[in-house]
Formats: sequence, structure tokens, C-alpha cells
Amino acid sequence: MSERITVRAPAKINLHLGVGAPREDGFHPLETVYTSIGLYDDVAAVASSEWSLGLDAAPYVDASAVPLDDTNIVAAAARALAALHGVPVTASVTITKGIPVAGGLAGGSADAAAALVALDRLLDLQTADDDLLRLAAELGSDVPFALHGGHALGTGRGEIVTPLPAGDAVLWWVVVPSTSGGLSTPAVYRHYDELSPSVSPEPAPATAVLSALRAGDVVALAAALHNDLQAPAVDLRPDLGDLIAAGEAAGALRGLVSGSGPTVVFLCADADAARGLAGVLQEDGHTALVANGPVAGAHLVNGL
Ligand code: ATP
Repeated sequence: MSERITVRAPAKINLHLGVGAPREDGFHPLETVYTSIGLYDDVAAVASSEWSLGLDAAPYVDASAVPLDDTNIVAAAARALAALHGVPVTASVTITKGIPVAGGLAGGSADAAAALVALDRLLDLQTADDDLLRLAAELGSDVPFALHGGHALGTGRGEIVTPLPAGDAVLWWVVVPSTSGGLSTPAVYRHYDELSPSVSPEPAPATAVLSALRAGDVVALAAALHNDLQAPAVDLRPDLGDLIAAGEAAGALRGLVSGSGPTVVFLCADADAARGLAGVLQEDGHTALVANGPVAGAHLVNGL
């Protein structure tokens, strides 16, 4: 039987997302604090002389929004490895999606990171860590963090990742994916520029979030959560503001738009609080997933 390599990669939440004015190359400078949560995509690869890509998706995931042609970021990861090593990179690959698509949770980036690790291992390419991180950054700003996991500081356009200590605090989240379509990340950034035309070139610093993480203080962390993209996301989708208010009224320490949205995440005091809040939101008709973190970045879950 052919060997099958399965690599799991987590979704991310930005505990802090400071966005500066666009640079000359059009990218916005960021200061962000990433954290990984136990909501995953798996990428499984089996040796094959031809490339193929398939998808299994959780019921709350919009599978039709994931292209299975060459534009899938997993196919781009295979091409990047092929170019680096000068060898054909083919495999029969299946993505199992638990991370909502276009939700601001970096699901595509998780797939890219998982694919880099799975294909490297399947084909015994022995890519050096530095090369893997460089390819990851070329594939997308959030891909290096999906390799690292844990908590990390992101600068540049988010692709310069400095791991932070995991700390003692387990963070309990309730994740509410949008059931009425995704928000395009470029559209949310464009709306940010429209709403904040005179923003400083320097992104807002992550000082408060970093010190709450150092102290392992979940209540202080809840107060410090910061997302500059929340205002434009809520302006485009006012229902997100209503959802945040409902979750906070039902006991969350804090609700926050995740990245560019439209997923809303709630930080809760502990596991019981998270399960209780998820129950309330489910009764209101929402999909509400409980996940904790920080968790490991892209890692092998079976195979060689
Ligand atoms: P980010 O927060 O990094 O901007 P996101 O979580 O909002 O990302 P993704 O789920 O990564 O969004 O998907 C963004 C778009 O990328 C999708 O709408 C889809 O067209 C395209 N895409 C390409 N490959 C994938 C993949 N493997 N999984 C999901 N989307 C993919």
C-alpha cells in the first residue's frame, strides 16, 4: 500500500492587529500577535506520478469556495517545492477542511503550510527549515505563522514571525463562522483605507497584548485585544457588530472580528464558560465551535 502522509495545521487568530498606512508597494505594514487555535485543516498526500487535489469539508465549511485547480494554494506550495529542488512534485492530495473559508482564520495559509511539510516528507526532499520558511513567506503573509503555531509576533506584512513563549494560560475561544459568505481580505483593507485616510505609517504597537500574555492574565488579555480591521469589517457587515454584542452579553470576556473577518471569535474565562456560550449561540441559530490554544503549528499526524 502506498504511504500516506497527513499533516495538520491550525487556524490563527490575531490577538492584536495594528495596521499602518499602505507602503509604496501597496502592502500595509502590520504589527500583529498571532495565536493558534485547535481548529484544523489536514493535508494528506499519497505518492502518485500525477497531481490531483480533492477536498473533504466540515458541514459548516463552504466547500464550493475552495478552488481545486492550479489556483489552490496547495498547488502553489507544490510548485514552490518543485522550483526549489528542481524535481517534479506530484502527489494525490486531499485537504480536509475544518477551518471556514475566507473567514479571517487563515485556512488557506494553514493548507499551504501543511502541504509544504507533507510533500517535503512524502518525497523525502529534506528542505532546510530556512528554505521552508522562505517559501512559506512567498506563498502568503500568514503561512510562516502556520508553520510555527503557538503565539508569535508578526511584523512586515505579517510574514516576519518571531515566536513568543507559550506561557501558562490556556485560551478558550468560541469561534462563530459566518453563514452568509466570506469577506475578501483586500476589500476589507480597501475599506480600512477609506475609513482611515490619515492613519500613521507605523502600525499600532502590541504592547498591551504582549504584557497580558507575559502575565498569563486572560482578563487583561481580553481587555487588550485589538483589531484595526474590525471597524471596516463591521461597517461592511453590521450583523457582526450585533453578534459581538450578543456574545459579550451572554458571558464572553470579549468578542472580536478575526483578522479581516467575517468570523467572530469570543475569548472566554475557561472551558465551561466557552461551552456555555457556544450553547447559547447555537440556540440562536449560529454555528459556534469551541477551540483552545495555543497549539502546535503544522505537524505530522500519521505517516512515516
Ligand atoms: P486570511 O485571513 O489569510 O486572509 P482567510 O482565512 O480570510 O485568509 P482563506 O480561507 O485562506 O481566507 O481563503 C481565501 C481565498 O483563497 C478563498 O476564497 C479561495 O478562493 C482561495 N483559496 C485558495 N486555496 C485555498 C485553500 N486551500 N483553502 C481555502 N481557500 C483557498
